[in-house]
Order: sequence, then structure tokens, then C-alpha cells
Amino acid sequence: MVKVEVKYTKLFINNEWVDAVSKKTFPTINPHDETVIAEVAEGDKADVDIAVAAAKKAFHRYSPWRILDASGRGLLMLKLADLIESQAKYLAELETLDCGKPVKTAEEEFYYSATVLRYYAGKADKILGNTIPADGEVMSMTIKEPVGVCAQIIPWNYPIPMMSWKIAPALAAGCTIIVKPAEQTPLTALAVAALIKEAGFPPGVVNIIPGYGPTAGAALTHHPDVDKVAFTGSTEVGKIILGAASAVNLKRVTLELGGKSPLVVFNDADVEKAAQIAHGAAFANGGQCCCAGTRTYVQSGIYDQFVAKAAEIAAKRSVGNPFDDVEQGPQIDQDMYSKVLGYIEAGKAGGAKCVVGGDKLGDKGYYIKPTVFADVKDDMKIAKEEIFGPVQSILKFETFEEIVDRANDTNYGLGAGVITNDITLAMSFAKYVRAGSVWINIYDHVTSQTPFGGFKDSGIGRELGEDGINQYLETKTITLALPKVPQF
Ligand code: NAD
Repeated sequence: MVKVEVKYTKLFINNEWVDAVSKKTFPTINPHDETVIAEVAEGDKADVDIAVAAAKKAFHRYSPWRILDASGRGLLMLKLADLIESQAKYLAELETLDCGKPVKTAEEEFYYSATVLRYYAGKADKILGNTIPADGEVMSMTIKEPVGVCAQIIPWNYPIPMMSWKIAPALAAGCTIIVKPAEQTPLTALAVAALIKEAGFPPGVVNIIPGYGPTAGAALTHHPDVDKVAFTGSTEVGKIILGAASAVNLKRVTLELGGKSPLVVFNDADVEKAAQIAHGAAFANGGQCCCAGTRTYVQSGIYDQFVAKAAEIAAKRSVGNPFDDVEQGPQIDQDMYSKVLGYIEAGKAGGAKCVVGGDKLGDKGYYIKPTVFADVKDDMKIAKEEIFGPVQSILKFETFEEIVDRANDTNYGLGAGVITNDITLAMSFAKYVRAGSVWINIYDHVTSQTPFGGFKDSGIGRELGEDGINQYLETKTITLALPKVPQF
């Protein structure tokens, strides 16, 4: 195993490294071999109170952060992006150790996160209000102001990309932040905290509190001085957060939640290409992707050929030590490992045909074989529930109307895909499917410029693009009385 130095394990508050008030720590586990990588300071309510006070002070109207020019905020963000890139190799190794994703993919994620920071850095001094021809003898305008102190709760599947989706628009808008990384993957958020300090952000602008959801996370979502909560994670926890966010004060809330996204392949598709896209849609990041295309619907004319090709590709997928040149590492932890294996058993018991995989891999670490089920029916558990593991379900369909109804027959609405050369068919599907992102002849292509988020139980609000920064801004209307117009 590659030796990676863990440099930061304390809470990051006011640009300082501190122990938890309780002095408690929690272990973070290497999913490859189930060993403890490091003990990390465990933040809870007492630490959240201190961090929120720091963020509130940093948001004071005369603080160094608030009096900084908007272009100055952008420059700090550009500096941070450069620092992340300069450390990408080290950060990627740290991520692979903590999260289990292949080291090459992890490195790409840091470069990607730098692009998100740069995109929003460019927006910092382009946040514009309007002038409004209001009725009456007045002049009216709107200005956009930062929403205030933001709590940002991050999942473990894409730790730094998800953090960049949240801190970048918040910083561009001029907010201050408390980040709570997932308890499974606290290490890279802390390493990035060191770079935030090095970039020159004033104390209190970004604070990082590792800890557990029901303690540190809940303290943030209940705190009266937090103005906004941004969360990525499960729909179950999203609902808890929505309730908590209105219990004490009325926090603004954005939620990026789960999914059970359909990918529809029509008869005219090139089977080889379609199977490749569908494979990527289902298995990227070991299936631990909120918008994973896990319901692969294939039209009857090419169904058998497609199943054979999908099985062939999945059987060749390289799985193993994420420091090696592999496509898939271990699942994140014991809980998810057991949960995914449970779904695989439910698939078999429910009558789906397991054509590849269907089992754990090895005896150490949370490895699961890429698994493909054919002849899946809509009412099976594996077709209805989010698995969050390397499992693809292939279902057969006949007609366009039928597939639109079946694709939409879910409480989720995060992503959807369609593969066909018929542009009218593709655009009709894109129009009628109820999902926040629709990909045509490609899947899970997410850029800084394009908004991302869910319909229905997949979330509230959008991240990325223009929509993303609007979630960190309040609109203020200012109306000035003009002198009475003299008789004309
Ligand atoms: P999770 O919801 O348990 O945890 C996510 C984060 O929320 C963690 O930081 C956790 O500590 C925190 N948390 C847990 N309980 C909390 C509480 N009561 N109050 C405040 N914070 C709390 O989810 P998970 O198991 O880490 O991630 C997997 C799920 O996340 C999947 O369902 C997946 O679909 C979803 N997800 C969605 C997206 C998206 O962009 N929509 C991205 C990644 C993951």
C-alpha cells in the first residue's frame, strides 16, 4: 500500500487547528483493508457553536471579508484553485486512502474541483441587480447580497467535488461557511482547509468541522445563526434537514439527494456504444453516484444483444486496490457494503437473472463484483430503490409512451438518459421525463456551467451554473422617492 502522510486531523476554525471541546476523536477507515487510517477530532454542538460564531463574525458588515472587493474574492478563489492543482497528486492519494476511489479518478476530481472554483471566481464581480421602472414617483432597483452564514453538509462519494459545488458559489457570493465533511471521508476537506488558509482567506470565512450527522450535522441545521443549509446526501436525511432548518429560524435550504435514474436505449442505437455508455452510467465511482443510471431500459429489438454486450463489458471491469490501475475500488464502508450485497440477494430472490457478478470480491476490504441483472421487472426492489453500488438492472420495453410512463414511475427525478439517433425521439423523451438533468447519447456529463439538481424527492434547488450562485444570494429591492413632478 502507498504510504500517504495524514497532516491534518483537527477541527479548522478561524484559520486555526483545534481539538474538539470534548477532546473526542473518531477513526476514519481505509475501505481497502479495513484498517484505521487516523483518529480525527470529532466536532459536536459545542464546536459548531464556536465555528458558527467565527463565521458570523467574519460576516460582520465591516469584517475584512465583507469589505474586500468582489474581484478580490475572485482572486482568492483563483489562488485556491491553483493551490489545489499544485497539490492534486498528494490530495488524490489521501482521497484514495480514505474513500477507496481509483487514484487516477481521484486526481481528476481535484482538477475538476479547481475548475468549479475558477468558474465561480469569475462570477464574483458579475453579480448584478436590476433597475426597475416601478409604478409611482420613485426609482427602484435590486441589489444582490450574500445570504449569510452557510452550513454545508457533504457526502463521502465525491468529497471534494461536492465541497467545491458548495463553497465556490458561496464564496463568490460573499457568504461565510461551516463545512461538515462526511464522517467516512474527513481527510481531504481538512487538507483543503490548509490551502484555504494559505490562499489568504480571512479567519472565519471557511471553517471545517468533521463529525457525525446526528451530532455535528444536526447542530448546524438547528443553529439560530445559520442562514442557509446546503446538503448533499440521502433523501431520508434530506427530509430531516428540511424539518430542522425551519425549527428555530427559517433557513434557506438546498438539497441534492438520491436517485434511481433511467437510461433508455432505443432500437436504432449502436449496441456496442450504447452498452458502453450504460455501463459508465451504472458503474462510475463503483455505482456510488447520486445520478447513476441504474435502470437501463432497452427496446425489445436489441434487448438480447444489449444484455450480452453489457455482461461482457461488466465482466471485464477491473476491480481491486485503488492505488493500482483499476476502474473500481472498494465500496465506502461496511454499512454500504452489506446494504449493496443485500440488494444483490434481493435481486436474485425476486427472480431477476444475474448475468454477471452477484457476489463480494475477496475477503478483506469492501469489494463487490460488478453485477448485471437482466429481465428485471419494474416492481422488483432492485428496480425501485437506490442501491448505491455496482449493480445494473436491465429492463425491456416496447413503445415510446410506455417508456416515458415507466421512466417517470419513481419518486426520484435526478437524472435521465436516452440513446438514439432519432433527434425527435430524444427531444420528446427529454421533454416528458421528469428529471433535473437529461443526457442524450452521453451520460453524467456535469460541468461548472450547467445546473444540477433534482425534481421530486431528488432535491430542492440547483447547484452549479447561474442557478447555483443564486442559491447563495438574497434580492434586496431599494426604492427611492423622487421629488413630485411639477405641473406640466
Ligand atoms: P447521508 O445522508 O447519511 O449523509 C450525508 C451527510 O449528511 C454526511 O455528512 C452525514 O454526516 C450528514 N448527516 C447524516 N445525518 C444527518 C442529520 N441528521 N443532520 C445533519 N446532517 C446529517 O448519506 P450517505 O450515506 O453519506 O450518502 C449516500 C446518499 O447520498 C445516497 O442516497 C445518494 O443518492 C445521496 N447523494 C446524493 C448526491 C446528489 O448530488 N444528489 C450526491 C451524493 C450522494
